[in-house]
Amino acid sequence: MILLDGKILSKKIKLELSNEVNEIISLGQRKPHLVAILVGDNPASRTYVSAKEKACNEVGFDSTIIQYENNVPQEDLIKKILEINLDVNIDGLIVQLPLPKHIDEHLVIHSISHKKDVDGFHPINLGKMMLGLPTFLPATPFGIITLLKEYGVNTIGKNCLVLGRSNIVGSPISILMSRNTKFANATVTLAHSKTKNIKNLTMNADIIIVALGKERFLKSDMVKKGVVIIDVGINRIKSDRTRSGWRLVGDVDYDNVKNKASFITPVPGGVGPMTIVSLMKNTLISYKSLNKNKN
Ligand code: NAP
Repeated sequence: MILLDGKILSKKIKLELSNEVNEIISLGQRKPHLVAILVGDNPASRTYVSAKEKACNEVGFDSTIIQYENNVPQEDLIKKILEINLDVNIDGLIVQLPLPKHIDEHLVIHSISHKKDVDGFHPINLGKMMLGLPTFLPATPFGIITLLKEYGVNTIGKNCLVLGRSNIVGSPISILMSRNTKFANATVTLAHSKTKNIKNLTMNADIIIVALGKERFLKSDMVKKGVVIIDVGINRIKSDRTRSGWRLVGDVDYDNVKNKASFITPVPGGVGPMTIVSLMKNTLISYKSLNKNKN
């Protein structure tokens, strides 16, 4: 079994990014700048935004977190987004999801300039992805593709099963894995909560990408020997092994499934760090594209 180590690979990519930033600075130009908007006090969202801020510091980007109370009026949020869209010193804008119920998530995503939408959630960017045009790929699918490519996992003609059809992970990765490109070219099945006989599908899959949010859902008796496993899930469970009293597990029963897998991502340390570094990559792409005529 080969561990698809997102921690090691993301470190390598961060080093490459920070070298590029040093070059930019040495030319007397400003650093790339990522802004994150955080609404409310969801602890998981706070943790994700802090991790993104830390990554910005590591690669040498400027980063700003704009924090709003849970009851912020939708108009205030949109007004701020429109301001940021016009700010020439900002290259990337993300709004941490989920948002409180009184805010229309689609409207918020629509309001972000597609040129600064480094999360790749804007319909224009999703449409470009669908057509195979250059764009910001959503960070988690982008990270998964990078990981599979780097480890030389053969995807061509393989049966790839994606469990979960969210707009941010399951649906976009199913499109990317089925694309007619040098990489990918898999035969993709997308399963969800209404899918019948999931075990029949998992037993037939060469590659399984699990994005459900169901702790240790995929068991070893559900997969065939040699399967490639990408575990996107992040679930917090109680634990007497840690000082905090909890630990993170994925959607895969890792300890048992790993014995049958040819390649597998751990949780933590697999897809998570690849998601964050992919966001950094998108921010640098945006910086270069927005500033190409100025430098
Ligand atoms: P989500 O929006 O929570 O949706 C879950 C998906 O799983 C839905 O499509 C749902 O089907 C499906 N589902 C739920 N129970 C199922 C079952 N028993 N059998 C088959 N399908 C089932 O998904 P998400 O936002 O992609 O998040 C999934 C997990 O990934 C979460 O743990 C999240 O924290 C984690 N995540 C991790 C990263 C990272 O960087 N590592 C990034 C994003 C998300 P329906 O559509 O029919 O409801």
